Order: sequence, then C-alpha cells, then structure tokens
Amino acid sequence: MPFSQPAVIRSRRVVLPDGERPADVLIRDGKIEQVAAYGSLLAGDRPDGDGGLADLGDTALLPGLVDTHVHVNEPGRTEWEGFATATRAAAAGGVTTIIDMPLNSVPPTTTLEGLVAKRKTADGQAWVDLGFWGGAVPGNVPDLAPLHEAGVFGFKSFLAPSGVDEFPHVEAADLEAALAEQARLGALAIIHAEDPAVLAAAPQQPGVHYRDFLASRPADAEAVAVAVLLDTARRTGARVHILHVSSAAVLPLLRQAREDGVQVTAETCPHYLTLAAEQVPDGGTAFKCCPPIRDETNRDLLWQALADGEFIAVVSDHSPSTPDLKLLPEYGGSGDFAAAWGGIASLQLGLPAIWTEARRRGHGLADVVRWMSAGPAELVGLTGIKGAIAAGCDADLVAFDPDGEFAVHPRELHHRNPVTPYAGRTLTGAVRTTWLRGRAVDVSAEPFGRPLTRPVAAPTTTPSDRLS
Ligand SMILES: [Zn+2]
Repeated sequence: MPFSQPAVIRSRRVVLPDGERPADVLIRDGKIEQVAAYGSLLAGDRPDGDGGLADLGDTALLPGLVDTHVHVNEPGRTEWEGFATATRAAAAGGVTTIIDMPLNSVPPTTTLEGLVAKRKTADGQAWVDLGFWGGAVPGNVPDLAPLHEAGVFGFKSFLAPSGVDEFPHVEAADLEAALAEQARLGALAIIHAEDPAVLAAAPQQPGVHYRDFLASRPADAEAVAVAVLLDTARRTGARVHILHVSSAAVLPLLRQAREDGVQVTAETCPHYLTLAAEQVPDGGTAFKCCPPIRDETNRDLLWQALADGEFIAVVSDHSPSTPDLKLLPEYGGSGDFAAAWGGIASLQLGLPAIWTEARRRGHGLADVVRWMSAGPAELVGLTGIKGAIAAGCDADLVAFDPDGEFAVHPRELHHRNPVTPYAGRTLTGAVRTTWLRGRAVDVSAEPFGRPLTRPVAAPTTTPSDRLS
C-alpha cells in the first residue's frame, strides 16, 4: 500500500469543521499538524519517516467516525461479538473510535473490577481507539466514583429490563440516587428510556408479525420514561443523554426541558433513520431492537429533528448476538419477534447507510460528519482530540468514495456473526482507507488501537448550543 503512512493527504473534498473544500492535510507524529490550501504542500514537506503524498482526487477525506454506542460483549459473550471482530468492523466502516457499553459482557462494567477485566481483555486486540462506559445499576452508587476516577466516559442505566439478568434496571429511587451521585461527580448519565409499566400494559402477542412486536413497545413507553428521567434530572442537576431515540414523541419533551435549562442531549441510530416498520418481513428478527424501528411517518420526523440539530449524535447501537438467539428462520429459528434477541448489528455499515439516505434527503457530507464524528466526540468530551480534521486532532481519517455502491453480503462483513437487517441492500458510499493516528489500518496486520479515558475537565454541552 503506497500511501499507508502519508505525511500529506490531498483531496478535492476534505470535510472540515466549517464545511467541505479542497485541501492538503499535513500529518506529523500521528496528529494533524496543519490544514493547508489545496496543492500547496509539496513532496518536500515530509516530516514522517516513510511519509509521502496521498492524492485522493475526488474521493472525500472525512474525520474518522466516533461511535459512542457499541456493545462489544467480551468477556463473557464473545460469541456474540468481541473486541477483535468489532474493531475490525469499525475500521472497515470508517469508525476510528468506539466507546463500549457496560453490558452484555460478563462481568458488566458496573464495578472497577469489571472495568479492569474489560481493559485487560481488550488490550492488544483493538484496531481502533477504544473507551468504556460504566453502568449504574441498583445498589452500585459506591462504585460510581471509582469508575469515574478510572476514566469511564459516563454511566448507563436502563429504566426497563435490559435483556440480561446481570444488568438490572433502575426503579425511581435507584435513578434518583444514581443521578444525584453523577451530578456530584460531574459525570454524564446515559439512559435507555422505556417505561416498564407502559410496556407491561401493552398487548403482548408473540409471533412472526412485526406489527404485533411494534404494539408491544409503544411510543408512549419512550415518552413516559423520558418524562420521568427529565423530572429526575431537573431535581438532581445531572447531565443526561437519551440513548437511541426511536419515537418522535419524545422530541417535544426534550425541547421543553432544554428551555427549562435541563442539561439533556439525545442520539438516534442509523436503523431508525434508514429502515421502517413497513419494510420488515414476517419473521425478520434481524430488524428487532428495543425501542423498535417505527413507521415511515415517524422516521421523517426523526430526520427533521436531525436537520434541526436536536440530536447531538447518530451512533450505531451495534448490539449483535448469535444467529440462533435471533431465531432467524433462515437458520431454522421460529422468527418469533417476542422471543428473539433485541439488537441490531450495523457497526461496519452505519456510515454508508446514513449517507445513502442523507444524500437522498439533500444533506451533505458535512452533515454526516457532524452527526457521526464531531457530535459524538463532543458528547464524550473528546472535542479537540477526535472528530475533526483540524490542527491538533489525532489524524484519524477516512478516504470515502461518496459514489461507491455496494451490496451488503453479511458474510463479507467483519462482524462476528453474519446477521444484519441491511443484508441484500445496495448502499452508496464506500470506505477506501481508514487511518488511525496517521497509520492506515490493515486488519490483516497487528492492531494498534489504544485505550481511551475520559479527558479531565471535559467540555460540557450546553443545551442552547444544540438548538440554533
Ligand atoms: Zn445499546
């Protein structure tokens, strides 16, 4: 590979924080040293050992994506996904930083010992840079400070059952205690918001029909849970982030809370923005996740909110399992939505999936970069380190062909298990090369991803910044 460690990368389409333009990007010691006028840097400007000039032509240069919502599942459920497979998929999909969720590994990251186990397991296996979320569960308030000190990026809680027994959900009193402690620490609380009482009251009709599954996880479950959460955030002063918003019904609540001064951000995911309930076939459990993919009208409202700056991030919520737990009919399973594992595998496909739909809706690459790189970096305090092509940032870069088309064949993906709802789709946008700190990632060579900890004095996101 002639340009594996270029000192200068040139493209007619460099996506910078203030928009897309032709530029030369000078790299030194793994960082971006300078963004210069197109064609202004010469072969003589070679600060690195074997560095050269990589001219990408019309292939775009993006900052590497930052995916703050990835379930790696190792140790404990490595057969679902592991550090090696997840981070290879990430690199192949243009993602250069992932933050790993505190479940479905065993142990979960709810104690310092759990975090140490995760870090030890990940060591030497990661093709991208990698940080960790902690978990806030009933009874572990004393564990939050040590985890925070050890550099987790914040704490995840579930307001409804998580799907795994070792990570129980919080009731009102637990939530209050957890958020009070996180407010004291200055930690970011990230929340799976579905209300268990609304879910329990919803019709539970098992079977292969998606509409029955959808009825069992109504939009109201999200709205009620978000209302409860925002009340608790108001009382405790905690900074909260709503994970994987699927229902547009929560958007007015978020707007009101921001007007009231609550520190709240929200994310949504590629599957809510690019797939729709109307497309899910009978038994199509690859599409099952919680909260669920809803209808096309709802999807349009999510796009509008995204365009209006109401979501700080679009992240994968990559949460795979083995094909047998998905009960996939093509693997001999029953296709029963109620019993199948809820989680969607998409880490390698998020960028092209979003780009395909974003372009159709009139958005540009700069929008995609804001949603999938700069925004999530800001969420976790990595602005200035990750998520931008700017002097001083890590040279995490992606050569991205915005016109490259490909069909999704699950067995060709690096995900550990060949299951994804994008199977068979044709997506637009192909990752050609991914550079991590200036070095091209070659998934057949040695990994050189590094562990990340939360930067001290992380910049806080003020709600007004998000609403322009
Ligand atoms: Zn998740």
